[in-house]
This record gives sequence, C-alpha cells and structure tokens, in this order.
Amino acid sequence: MKTVKIDLLIVGGGIAGLWLLNRAIKDGLNAVLLEKDTLGGGQTIRSQGIIHGGTKYALNGVLTQASNTIKEMPQRWRNCLQGQGELDLSDVEILSDAHFMWSKGSLGSKMTTFFATKAFRGRVEEVAKKDRPAVFKDKAFKGSLYRLSELVLNVPTLIDALRKPVEDNIFKADLLEAETEISDGRIKSLVFPEQNLSIEPKQVVITSGEGFETLAEKLEISQPEMQRRPLHMVMVKHDLKLPTFAHCIGTGSKPVATITTHPCDDGKQVWYLGGDVAETGVDRSREEQIRFARQAISKLLPWVDLDNAQWQTFHVDRAEPMQSSLVRPDSAFAQQVGNCIVAWPTKLALSPDLSDQVLPLCQRSESTTDLSVLNAFPKPETAKPLWETMF
Ligand SMILES: Cc1cc2nc3c(=O)[nH]c(=O)nc-3n(C[C@H](O)[C@H](O)[C@H](O)COP(=O)(O)OP(=O)(O)OC[C@H]3O[C@@H](n4cnc5c(N)ncnc54)[C@H](O)[C@@H]3O)c2cc1C
Repeated sequence: MKTVKIDLLIVGGGIAGLWLLNRAIKDGLNAVLLEKDTLGGGQTIRSQGIIHGGTKYALNGVLTQASNTIKEMPQRWRNCLQGQGELDLSDVEILSDAHFMWSKGSLGSKMTTFFATKAFRGRVEEVAKKDRPAVFKDKAFKGSLYRLSELVLNVPTLIDALRKPVEDNIFKADLLEAETEISDGRIKSLVFPEQNLSIEPKQVVITSGEGFETLAEKLEISQPEMQRRPLHMVMVKHDLKLPTFAHCIGTGSKPVATITTHPCDDGKQVWYLGGDVAETGVDRSREEQIRFARQAISKLLPWVDLDNAQWQTFHVDRAEPMQSSLVRPDSAFAQQVGNCIVAWPTKLALSPDLSDQVLPLCQRSESTTDLSVLNAFPKPETAKPLWETMF
C-alpha cells in the first residue's frame, strides 16, 4: 500500500473546490482535489454564470446582509478576468459585461429612491433609450431598464481556466469508495483499495455540493446540516441572435424571470430561464413548465417571435447550509468539524469569499510530497452544459 501525506484534500470539483485548489496551491499548500464525475458537473455547469453584486437581493428596498457581503464580488472577479486578481481568469469568456433589470411598468418609487442611495451608486444606472440592448429596442417595449454592474460568464470556459493551472493536482475518485479511518473526530486516512493507496490529509474540505448528504454519514458529521432549494429551469434554443441578460421584476421581491443567453456548439443560442419561473415550477410537469414559461415570455417580451424555438426543462437542487425556513443563506459558508471543513459557496459569485474563510484554517507542511502515485486515478473531464446534451 502506498501512502501520500498532504496538507489539504478537497472533495468535489465544482466552482468552490476548483477556486479553493488554485488559491491553496498559490498559498504553498500541498493540496489535492478529488472529483467523482466531471469537473463542474453539479450545480456549477447548471448555473446562469451571473456574478451578482447583490442588487437582486435588495429588490424589496432593504439592503440585506446578503447584499452587503456580495457587493464586492463583481470587482474582485473583474480583477481576475483582467489577469490582475488573486487568480488569472483572463481566458474566461465574458458573455455580458452587465446584467439588466427591467420592469414592464415603471419601478416602484421605493426602489428608484433606493437605487439612488449611496449603497448603489455606480452599481445601478437607468439605461437611456439609445443605449438599450437590441432586445429592448423594440417600440413595443414600454418599461424601465436598469443596468447592473454585474457580469455574466461562460461557465465551461471558467471551469477550464480553473482546471488548467492545477491539473496535476486533480484526480477522478469518489470519496464514498474510500475506507475511512476516523479517530477523535479527525479523519486520519482515506484508503482506496482498488488503487492500493492511502491518502493522509491534515485537513479535508468538503465542497461536494449536494453530495455532502451521503458523505456526512460516512464521515460521521452530524452538523452542519444541508438544505436543498429545488428549481425547474427552462432552456429555449433559437437562432434569433438576441443576447438577453436581464432580471424581469414584477411586484414581489424576486425577479419573475432571470434570462441569460449562452452560445451552443451548432451556432444557435439558448435563453436560460431562472428566477420565479424556476422556483414556482418545481411541481409542474415538463409540458406544464414549458407552457408556463412560454406564456411568461410572451407577456414579458411579446415582440419576440419564439415560434420556431425548441424548449427543454430540467430539475436541479441548490445545495446550501440549513437555514430556518427555506430562505437564501447570506454569504459563503464554511464550518470546521474536527480536521474537516464543510463548505458551500451558496453562489458561484461567492467562491472567492469561501476561499477567504477556508484558507486561514489550513496548515502548511514544510516538506513537499510526490503526488505521482495518485496517477493511479484517472483524470475527470470538464462538464458539458445541458443545452449541448438535452436538445
Ligand atoms: C440553476 C442554478 C442557477 C444558478 N445561477 C447562479 C448564478 O447565476 N450566479 C451565482 O453566483 N450562482 C448561481 N447558482 C449557484 C451556484 O451554481 C452554486 O452555488 C455553485 O455552483 C456551487 O458550487 P459547488 O462547487 O459548491 O457545488 P457543485 O457545483 O455542485 O460541485 C460539487 C461537486 O462535488 C462532486 N462530488 C459530490 N460528491 C462527491 C464525492 N463523494 N466524491 C468526490 N466528488 C464528489 C460532484 O460531482 C460535483 O462536481 C446557481 C445554481 C443553480 C442550481
């Protein structure tokens, strides 16, 4: 049996694990990431790629804690995208430099006053008619349009940019297949019998998304607990060439629909629909959800002809730390349990915040370790977006 001693074992190669692995290696930690399937293949590839600055969470006109924590994220990501931040993301494709917020009528006075406050200065601007994106240039558009200083990224290019610099430290393996030695609440070793390998980590970070539920049992972790927030997302494939990145606001505190636009390999585009459409659609069948989404879009954007579009839907759960009631958690979450840290970014945008929380809890060893024995594991591929596999 070969034994590898490392500083940090990261379990799960979504955005959280990948961001953390890059930061850990930069910090001089001897770190390894295990992914059981494809990199980003959980929630990350299903995300809309919006680097939120918190504006959407302030729709009820109250600056919440979530809004405060997330406020700094767009600038932090912008620095990385320009190759000047904590990580070099200059190869990542930016699908849109801004996300928009539109309402069919005028925005409530409470909200407009709120957007004019210091907290939002420079982050939300009303868009003049001549500067509107193509989809909102139609004469039939009567509402108000705001530009949010929030980016939208092409997620597969993000996963690749995070994978490349640390590829040698990533392996395909399922932690559920390891025999674990736990004593005094600390993970001593993880033995993979098929590879005849034992990994002895100082620290383990669980960034396995919803996979935590089964891992918790194996690793004898009773706290924290996880919650799922189910969604029924909608995809509309067309060749209209109308890139749309916007939250549509109704009367509630959540967008009626959030639309992002993504390129497909065959040259077409997908409008990817989240927001209330997805949250309220969980119990609808696929046919009902498509009907519902079609009606919503034809009411919101009646001038857009989607008669020749193809429609698809899928269910996905957001995995998050348990909250009282199914409210959104406020920031990235990391909790230490023995030498294990259980972590959920809760949003793609908050991955930098998650690494900030986790890294101070990790210890560096003086010596370096030869990781070549881990080559007994295969390498995971980057996940494909669902619009490439479902249409
Ligand atoms: C529909 C949708 C839209 C979203 N849109 C946005 C958005 O626009 N902006 C934003 O900021 N956030 C968004 N989010 C939230 C964001 O996607 C998630 O918070 C984030 O991707 C979570 O990343 P993660 O790395 O924690 O988990 P995941 O991406 O789920 O990754 C977990 C990984 O762990 C692996 N794993 C599980 N068990 C094991 C095991 N036993 N051994 C090894 N590996 C294991 C899985 O295979 C998976 O690859 C969205 C989420 C959803 C569902």
